[in-house]
Amino acid sequence: MSRRSAIQRVFAAIALGAALLLVLLPGVSMPARAAGPVRIVTVYDNEAAGPGLATGWGFAALVSTPGGTVLFDTGRDGAALLANMTRLGLDPNAIRSVVLSHAHSDHTGGLTALLAAIGRGAGEVEVVVPAPVPETIRRQVAAAGARLRSVSGRAEILPGVFGTGSLGGGIPEQALVVDTAEGLAVVTGCAHPGVLRVVEAVRVQHAGRPVALVLGGFHLYKTGTAEIARVVDGLRRLGVQRVAPSHCSGPAARRLFEAEFGADFIAGGAGSVVRLGR
Ligand SMILES: [Zn+2]
Ligand SMILES: [Zn+2]
Repeated sequence: MSRRSAIQRVFAAIALGAALLLVLLPGVSMPARAAGPVRIVTVYDNEAAGPGLATGWGFAALVSTPGGTVLFDTGRDGAALLANMTRLGLDPNAIRSVVLSHAHSDHTGGLTALLAAIGRGAGEVEVVVPAPVPETIRRQVAAAGARLRSVSGRAEILPGVFGTGSLGGGIPEQALVVDTAEGLAVVTGCAHPGVLRVVEAVRVQHAGRPVALVLGGFHLYKTGTAEIARVVDGLRRLGVQRVAPSHCSGPAARRLFEAEFGADFIAGGAGSVVRLGR
């Protein structure tokens, strides 16, 4: 065997080994995507989607993926948040990360109660906050013994689960993005930067991926119908497949979104469940 063909054999063996690794370790070597089913349960909202659930101005959603469970926002009232989770059969101890959209109390008010409910396990929980992190949040996280992570750009939180980092000029806010087999699920807190700008930013951060769902606060409760219609049209143009306008979206926006999206409109509210990627 010539020296050259021996070297070629070695390279072929290395290539085969690398290919086997790609097959055997898809979570490591493939682009991170939340393989398998993803479930988003709204656990705190202005409205209830089922009986026996507390309501209040604010938002929180529990996102379950094969790579772990994330709580996005914590509502205004911790007791109501925990009561709703109990009612829905959801265990706070399953939560690996708490992602806060922004510092307003209708999204962060339940944080201390939630971390207290997790108790000793809170040391394993990462609280992901858009930069700059307010001192009050920093203190709450430290007091509970949880880990703080400040994010300014796209950040992977769990496999296939991302924060956008701070978006928009006025109030620093981030959205949660889950890359599912159906496409991206975008969960918004209040969407202070504007829900269109949020989805546009997500499309830049995750180029080439379709947007399967936008769920959460769209912040249109004080917006006139002409402007709401522009937002509805804009989300359509961005290829958004399903919408679940909740929290601060307002009744007028919900009506217009339902008229445009039909069967792809999801009535949100505490207790509503959306599944993707099955
Ligand atoms: Zn807000
Ligand atoms: Zn809000």
